[in-house]
Amino acid sequence: MKKFLIFSLLGIMFSSNAYSNKIYNGTFIDAHSQAGPLITDEQVSKQINNNDVDLTLLSVRGKYINANQRYKSIQRLTGTKTRYLIPTKLAGFTQKWRPVEKVISVISILQEQAINNNINYTGFGEIIVQHAPHNHSRLKYEGINNDLNSERISRAIQIVLNDDKPVILHVELNDYEKDSKKILNQLVELSKKYPNNNFLLMHMAQIEFSEAKFVINKTNNIHFITSHADNDTQEKIKKNKGKSQQGWINLFDKNDNFQKRWLDLMNENPKRFVLALDNVWDGHWLIGYGNKIYMWRKALAALDKNSSMLIACGNANTYFKLGIKCLKDRVK
Ligand SMILES: [Zn+2]
Repeated sequence: MKKFLIFSLLGIMFSSNAYSNKIYNGTFIDAHSQAGPLITDEQVSKQINNNDVDLTLLSVRGKYINANQRYKSIQRLTGTKTRYLIPTKLAGFTQKWRPVEKVISVISILQEQAINNNINYTGFGEIIVQHAPHNHSRLKYEGINNDLNSERISRAIQIVLNDDKPVILHVELNDYEKDSKKILNQLVELSKKYPNNNFLLMHMAQIEFSEAKFVINKTNNIHFITSHADNDTQEKIKKNKGKSQQGWINLFDKNDNFQKRWLDLMNENPKRFVLALDNVWDGHWLIGYGNKIYMWRKALAALDKNSSMLIACGNANTYFKLGIKCLKDRVK
């Protein structure tokens, strides 16, 4: 009896109080991250296994010919903690001079290979519509500015729609401010044209608050992925001024809490936001990954309980048809 009591007390201490109630302790899905050539399968897998993200939807960068094999190897090492997003941006998709025919055929090849290799993929990685130029040691890049009707973009979107998966779009409304009206209107058109499909905008689309309200009011199947919309990214862009793009928006205040207006918008429209960290570079995985997860878990706790569960898990579960159980609190 005594023993039982002590065990119960310990159980309470170590489970419910492992995180205080100021922390979201529910299921946490990172709905889009990437493993690139600068990190090994073992390193990525170790980070996935040892950190408090329950499920990572993972895409792969680098040579397309290795992409599916890389994912398979990571999957072997991480078990149920990862699912695959077939990359859409390899073989020079984001280089203007690469022929459309070539880059589109590579997406289809990867999809076919995944099917033939029994990889139970969950969807496709982000389709890069716009990407600002970079002049960084890691990335020298002239930039690309498509819109949703550009041939390579509409064909990539079609491949994803034909497979009945949600379409993840990377647009940069701030870095390409002059085209933001056009892109917003095209998004509304897209939503009307495919009312039964879901579209997810990476990195909050670099959207302004008023534009986010516009999208939420004008559509019901276009949602926001929260990646790179935090203080961490703001620090990085300050450091990289002149070398890389500056348009990322910030959902947070100085203390890593959600800004009130965004918090309210999320609570009012909890189905329209999907949590993702989008680790891209080796540094994202290897430096400060645990802190970032902790920061998000802390911020999510400020939302209504149902909203935090939807944003951290439920929406990705629905849109990607993951079939997992989303817990508001993992304490049993
Ligand atoms: Zn992106």
